[in-house]
Amino acid sequence: MKRWSGIIAEYKEFLPINQNTPIITLQEGNTPLIEACNISEKLLNNKIKVYLKLEGCNPTGSFKDRGMTLAISKAKESDAKVVICASTGNTSASAAAYSARAGLACVVLIPNGAIALGKLAQALIHGAKVIAIEGSFDDALKMVQLLASQYPITIVNSSNIFRIEGQKTAAYEIVDALGTAPDYHFIPVGNAGNITAYWKGYMDYFNLKQCSSLPKMCGFQAAQSAPIVEKKIIEHPETIATAIKIGNPFSWKSAEHARDASGGIIESVTDEEILYAYEMLAQLEGVFCEPASAASVAGVIKKNKENYFRSECNVVCTLTGQGLKDPDRAVMRVSKPIVLKPELNSIIKVLNL
Ligand SMILES: *Cc1c(COP(=O)(O)O)cnc(C)c1O
Repeated sequence: MKRWSGIIAEYKEFLPINQNTPIITLQEGNTPLIEACNISEKLLNNKIKVYLKLEGCNPTGSFKDRGMTLAISKAKESDAKVVICASTGNTSASAAAYSARAGLACVVLIPNGAIALGKLAQALIHGAKVIAIEGSFDDALKMVQLLASQYPITIVNSSNIFRIEGQKTAAYEIVDALGTAPDYHFIPVGNAGNITAYWKGYMDYFNLKQCSSLPKMCGFQAAQSAPIVEKKIIEHPETIATAIKIGNPFSWKSAEHARDASGGIIESVTDEEILYAYEMLAQLEGVFCEPASAASVAGVIKKNKENYFRSECNVVCTLTGQGLKDPDRAVMRVSKPIVLKPELNSIIKVLNL
């Protein structure tokens, strides 16, 4: 069997690399695409086929690794010494890990108190310099842009085109796995880099005749962090889905382009709808993702109620990150363990045996 060697080696003919590009990889990509039969049966009347792209299975637990392998490899190629990013958590986790592997210094700016503990732990253990800004993600990104305009530091946010180029490989994998493009692609939208990247990936494959159709791109923001839906910058975005708590997305225009060119939609789901999908994914499919990731499935449930889908269609949902990054959220959502003395009788009673 062939050993998977990461998205750059696997898809090099589609990526902006050359013989001098050192490939910094943790063998990201090749993530599972599983069918959500139970969700389809129990929540969608079996009307549509749903596939889940498990991006939490990437090395640092999110899709950010696909873009980071390329961004860090290109930074290394151009002889950069320091990389920097603003992050709601996963970009910093990924940047810190790939920088460690590349021997680059990494600086991350996070909104203070607003990222999941697991993600903070990752940035710290990989040796990044972590600065918590007393403000929002959008404030942190502004600081990053100012710093990089004045000092020789490479930005590895999704404003870095190599991030988008790397992330588009997820669309290739989906077409490679299904043998065709799906009818719809549902995806959470934060800074809007990923929806931009998927559309680019599908278009690449379409133009190269690797697929003969294109999916409608359906992006979902959290209700109180939905600048694209509301057509205005949100000064104080709010949502439990911290990975998409962004009020002024960098790739706003290109996300709208993906929506319009594909005939898709960008809409919002409430925190309650997100948490319901999060719980259903865990309990019906055995998939533990981040709350932000569940926005894609929450979107499918919502649009199905509105009779959006034609029958016998298929839908791919990107589950952007791993649930273990934010275990507190899960414990808060469901009932706590039952505490008992080590006595058989009391256990039997609780189990109704
Ligand atoms: C980064 C991230 C998103 C948002 O992706 P964008 O490209 O910023 O739209 C969604 N979910 C998770 C888990 C993320 O880490």
